[in-house]
Amino acid sequence: MKSFSKTVCAIILGAGKGARAALGYNKVLFRDNDQSVIKTATDKFSFCDKIIIVCPEDEKATFDALFPVNKGFTVVCGGNTRSESVRLALPYCDCEIVAIHDGARPYVSESLVRACIEDAIEYGSSVPCIKANVAIKETCGDTAKSVDRSKILFVQTPQVFNTEKIKAAYSSIPGDYADDSEIFEKAGYPVHVTPGEASNVKLTNPEDFKLKQRIGSGYDVHRLVENRKLILGGVEIPFEKGLLGHSDADVLTHAVMDALLSAAGLPDIGVLFPDNDPETENISSMILLSRVLEKIKHVRIINLSAVIMAQKPKLAGFIHSIRESLSSALGLPVDCVNVSATTTEGLGIVGECKGIAASATALIEI
Ligand code: MG
Repeated sequence: MKSFSKTVCAIILGAGKGARAALGYNKVLFRDNDQSVIKTATDKFSFCDKIIIVCPEDEKATFDALFPVNKGFTVVCGGNTRSESVRLALPYCDCEIVAIHDGARPYVSESLVRACIEDAIEYGSSVPCIKANVAIKETCGDTAKSVDRSKILFVQTPQVFNTEKIKAAYSSIPGDYADDSEIFEKAGYPVHVTPGEASNVKLTNPEDFKLKQRIGSGYDVHRLVENRKLILGGVEIPFEKGLLGHSDADVLTHAVMDALLSAAGLPDIGVLFPDNDPETENISSMILLSRVLEKIKHVRIINLSAVIMAQKPKLAGFIHSIRESLSSALGLPVDCVNVSATTTEGLGIVGECKGIAASATALIEI
């Protein structure tokens, strides 16, 4: 990748309160795809000569850990407004060009960052903008007046400037403005427009912070033997045989636990509850399920769907009790826990009544 003819510094802003996001914490620390939003945004500037992260004063330690000095980051405490934060960060910029970016815009592409830097080198500034693609009105009391949308641009970041000029603008124009280009413009410098990207949105409102949904599946088989109880989903089923296993061998609950653990990205029950542990010998699998739920208490279970494969006994009359048992253990309404049963038409280990199998699929939200 081509390098630039001038040195480039990036300022990534994360000092805002993000109150509109209503997360109860700094929105740029929201984790999406296993990393914070501000880290994803900062990664797009990794080729810059220097990266300055601006954080709230009371979160300095968190940001220091996220952006270590030995990885080349400079973490600076911001102020109460965006303009104040930039003013506090600018003295740390010792490059010829500075790119100022919102930490809450993680979807910016590296190619847009590079295009803005190229334009700022050529024109002294670059602000990515997209054209209005909706009808625009101006309020006039309680009526609205149409506006020519071809003249309207929506402004994004990174806003990139000649460092000397933006420093001069910030020192000559006091007060708070919506963005850096407004201060640059007020200081008498032209603002060059670079085509922005529709996907380069700023995460602002609660609906912008989507929880991640994941599915998981589980499968289990246990051998049918004499002198054992048959337990399915925590319900004892009257039958001349039962399932053999280290625990109560509740094959359905085992599949359910594995589906939940798999969805949550955790190891399966064979790892969590090894079959050589005397503590879990003959234990009710519903107790094991409560331990699994403790491990995944950070997730919300949306629904669960399971299939029991058994040639005998006929399970139709027990399905409702099984659903009630599992849904009460999972803390879900019964209609979110579905269980069906099938034979295998006499085929295979299930069909020959040698064992019972179960599979389960869980959908969760992290
Ligand atoms: Mg099992």
